[in-house]
Amino acid sequence: MITWLPGSNGGPSLKVNYTACAICDSSWGDLWEEVEGQRLFFCCEVCAVQFRNLVARIKVETGWPTVDRLTIAGDRRGRNAEARHGPAIYRCEFAYNAQGGLRAFRGSTG
Ligand SMILES: [Zn+2]
Repeated sequence: MITWLPGSNGGPSLKVNYTACAICDSSWGDLWEEVEGQRLFFCCEVCAVQFRNLVARIKVETGWPTVDRLTIAGDRRGRNAEARHGPAIYRCEFAYNAQGGLRAFRGSTG
């Protein structure tokens, strides 16, 4: 499980795990990408694309201007995530295609 904590708590790059990929938890690779103003570590370009797509989709689904916190669990067969914006919580289940695009996205609030 990976929890992403952007700078809403005051500092830059508050992601809990700095040494593993934000999507797949791999510790190899050396790709830093800025997402929502945060520099995040990814193992590869595909994971970075996946993460960007997820954040973008959640923002579209919820109408939130940004995501304060994002916890991702699961693996390539199916993942789930819990996103927070202030007191609001949004949960979703999803999977990625080979290009890093979202497929089978299903979300719910509360
Ligand atoms: Zn990865």
